[in-house]
Amino acid sequence: MRSPYDFAKAELAEMLEGEPRYRVDQIWHGLWSDHQAINEITTIPKSLRATLGERFTPLLDVVNDVSSDLGATRKWVFRLEGGATIETVLMAYEDRVTVCVSSQAGCAMGCTFCATGQAGFTRHLTTGEVLEQVMFAARAAAPRRLSNVVFMGMGEPLANYLVTVDVVRRLHDHLGLSARHLTVSTVGVAPAIERMAKTGLPLTLAVSLHSANDEDRSALIPLNRRYPLERLHRACEFWMATTGRRLSFEWALIDGVNDRDRDIDELARYALSLHAHVNLIPLNPTPGYLVRGSSGQRVHEFRAGLIELGVNATVRNTRGRSIDAACGQLAAVTNARRKSIAVRSA
Ligand code: SAH
Ligand code: SF4
Repeated sequence: MRSPYDFAKAELAEMLEGEPRYRVDQIWHGLWSDHQAINEITTIPKSLRATLGERFTPLLDVVNDVSSDLGATRKWVFRLEGGATIETVLMAYEDRVTVCVSSQAGCAMGCTFCATGQAGFTRHLTTGEVLEQVMFAARAAAPRRLSNVVFMGMGEPLANYLVTVDVVRRLHDHLGLSARHLTVSTVGVAPAIERMAKTGLPLTLAVSLHSANDEDRSALIPLNRRYPLERLHRACEFWMATTGRRLSFEWALIDGVNDRDRDIDELARYALSLHAHVNLIPLNPTPGYLVRGSSGQRVHEFRAGLIELGVNATVRNTRGRSIDAACGQLAAVTNARRKSIAVRSA
């Protein structure tokens, strides 16, 4: 099944041959301004809705809907065609409303501290499946306007490169989101960072660093063996030189693992050489990684140490922990995987 969000306006117009020309504008408006599913666009005749409705049924089937932070954070579990499940998180703040989307069902990168990585990879999402997450969240956010989209849900967006690029372009062109409001977070797929820089796409890049020495980083992030820190550094330099934009580093503080004084020094050197901003976040607990996040006191000291060395560092607040909706906690177990676990244990 395809989603109407998989298509450009001209392609939809082709499908509507024989209909009055203004129909495509009505449908486009319903999809992108009102975030409606085809069968909800009441400006078009019922019969057309029915015909298109057969072609495009919504791709996301809600199987769970939970909220926390007094309703300001909401997480949905969606079942996709074929049975895989993904998670999407909506976070309302005073000054913005952000949706955190999944780019893959699961993830193949295997970062030790991440629940998605612990669960393994099921499949890539399609453009329509990512965009429908955004539209679903935009509707739930009403009457507030969805202002930010971050690719920080399940999966590695740069491993699903073409879809990520397509989605970002459409969000910019059709939803009017600017680079400041579109963030792609990557574990550090160096060649894909360079390739994306060349597209000139308007977006903010966040790189999940978590350690600034190769030995420790490889233990946390297996991909570091393939693209070690020096290679990643080159990609980051290329990103800045080509796009003219700065990037930020994500650093999940793990007690005794990457929150030592020497980590402050290593991180400061790496970040300063790239004029990068650092986002600190205490590690969120996951079942497969039995190390704790740093204490509030240590998070504070770590940030102060960075600032003293001239690094621009902020602490990101943790939303949705109680509903397993915080960064790195997303791990809807897919049907396919459940089955394989059942077979293995039989
Ligand atoms: N694959 C991409 C984007 C999805 S993960 C990436 O790795 O960047 C989104 C963010 O959550 C990343 O910065 C990731 O490092 C972080 N993360 C993963 N597990 C976490 C955990 N247990 N606690 C805090 N952050 C975590
Ligand atoms: Fe994948 Fe990102 Fe989790 Fe690593 S941190 S396993 S890249 S989702």
